Amino acid sequence: MDKNTILKQYFGHDTFRPGQESIIDAILSGRDALAVMPTGGGKSLCYQTPALLLPGVTLVVSPLISLMKDQVTALAEAGVPAAYINSSLSPEQLHTVYRNLRRGDYKLVYVAPERLTGEGFSALFQSLNLALLAVDEAHCISQWGQDFRPSYLKIAQFLSQLPRRPILAAFTATATDAVRQDILKALSLQNPFLLTTGFDRPNLYFDVQQPSNRLAALRRILAQRRGKSGIVYCATRTAVDRVCADLNAHGFSATRYHAGLTDSERRQNQEDFQYDRKTVMVATNAFGMGIDKSNVSFVIHYNMPKSMEAYYQEAGRAGRDGEAADCILLYGPSDIVTAKALIEHSSENDALDSQTLEQVRRQDLLRLNAMVDYCKSRRCFRGVILDYFGQAHGETCGNCGNCNSTFATRDITTQAQMILSCVKRVRDHLGYSVGVTLIVQVLHGSLEQRLLSLGLDRLSTYGLMREHTSAQIRTCIEELIAQGYLHIRPEHQTLEPTPRAAAVLFHGEQVSLSQRYQIAPQETKQRPKSTAPDQVDAALLNALKALRSRLAQEAHIPAYLVFSNAALSDMAARHPHTIEEFLEVSGVGEKKAAQYGTAFLAAIQAYEKGDDAL
Ligand code: ADP
Ligand code: ZN
Repeated sequence: MDKNTILKQYFGHDTFRPGQESIIDAILSGRDALAVMPTGGGKSLCYQTPALLLPGVTLVVSPLISLMKDQVTALAEAGVPAAYINSSLSPEQLHTVYRNLRRGDYKLVYVAPERLTGEGFSALFQSLNLALLAVDEAHCISQWGQDFRPSYLKIAQFLSQLPRRPILAAFTATATDAVRQDILKALSLQNPFLLTTGFDRPNLYFDVQQPSNRLAALRRILAQRRGKSGIVYCATRTAVDRVCADLNAHGFSATRYHAGLTDSERRQNQEDFQYDRKTVMVATNAFGMGIDKSNVSFVIHYNMPKSMEAYYQEAGRAGRDGEAADCILLYGPSDIVTAKALIEHSSENDALDSQTLEQVRRQDLLRLNAMVDYCKSRRCFRGVILDYFGQAHGETCGNCGNCNSTFATRDITTQAQMILSCVKRVRDHLGYSVGVTLIVQVLHGSLEQRLLSLGLDRLSTYGLMREHTSAQIRTCIEELIAQGYLHIRPEHQTLEPTPRAAAVLFHGEQVSLSQRYQIAPQETKQRPKSTAPDQVDAALLNALKALRSRLAQEAHIPAYLVFSNAALSDMAARHPHTIEEFLEVSGVGEKKAAQYGTAFLAAIQAYEKGDDAL
């Protein structure tokens, strides 16, 4: 058998993605390899295909337990004998896995890094033919990376105990050169084949919005995507709880995930999301590394993440099935304050000495600045991302918020003067500064009790912006913060003028507001699609999805492990009538055709006859 047959027969794909083939060839020729590919780029196939072709077993080191179970289930669905070894196994289960391993029953075994140097484990591999050691998320070995895991250092120790060195292949989505060098060194890769594929994910739509009310903006975004599955990332646990409660109160099917929940609630919620029982997952960045759900059709960032690496990795969890998906970041100037505080008070690096710690913080701040630049950019968002990862690209992409918009500039000097003098007057009057809300109320001429009892209605700036809406006043204030005329004090969230305010108030400096207008509504924009949407029969697609849900429930596996959305779309476009035609569908391999073919063909036939009994 050759690699193309494996690809079709087991995984149901016709062609390899860019980069996959060269990595597989290198491994098959016995060479070590390091592959840098974006999340969703298809790293798994790069070691799964050789694993099926090489004699002996392939060991895959992977950091998260939930991911292993999912991968092994997916492999079993594709007809590949595989298992995993981690702390979730009972002694009896472990015993069975070891026995089967000794008998040579598996082609692939996933293992948690801390298990590698366990006595039984390394003894077992003294006597086995280990063909390939694949290290997933290999950047975890780098002390400079964001996800350093000391247990990854056990890999080298494990290798040194083997009678014969296997082929070594490392995979990561982290592109910086420092991390790459660290991986090469820490794993002692020998004359490795190096591959960095393009970082572009054309099916992802990127946008940044700066709403005055984030919760309302989030609800609007989710309302346009009802029934679709997606993740909402928040910066803190408190925000996760608040946002999740709000969404549920507004009738969205949301669940939550963060490190402050009990193990059992975390597991339950993750499963609810994975099995599509809940469509929206609200989470901190603790959620995701173990998530292999391919039908995530949007990733919304409720807060700005702390680096472009983190953003692209989290956003990249959308659209792994190749279908069009949206990555939207909700940004506000207060995010910078939160992110800085998180960097300053990070406890992850407690073990580092003060000099190293200082260096780490400096790097973190540089990363943060790049992230802020992205949020404020007027250029093609995809272009900004690819620049960051050092990849060439066209001027515009036609599939991001900025490419689909034009900018118009408006002079707001008068409004700026009103706001700045109001902030000053209120402070002079009270002897202390107040928050944004009260300033908006004063300018708007509100009759709020608090405002009246403080006597703020007697100020000359009271009601000065009566003909503006509160939201418009707020937008101007946010712009003044962004442009550095006002500043929010992090301790008390109070609004204060900066030294630059004087230029506007007394020296005639002009202030302008640049606003973005969307040219094309999101639905009609160009999007790359594997199957042209007009060829997909929507009613049939729904029927197929219903069938998929039923089969998944019966088998107790998540729906996307039966077939991906991409596979169902292709099916709904092709209307296969025979098993041969069914095998033509992208994502349908032999095992799945045998297992599910009859049911899906029957559904298609019933649909064509106009049978409502589906
Ligand atoms: P990564 O580990 O790089 O994030 P995965 O290995 O999980 O990515 O692959 C992401 C998705 O791409 C999966 O749904 C997989 O089925 C799909 N995929 C991978 N290779 C191919 C291919 N050659 N053709 C079509 N789909 C593919
Ligand atoms: Zn663009």
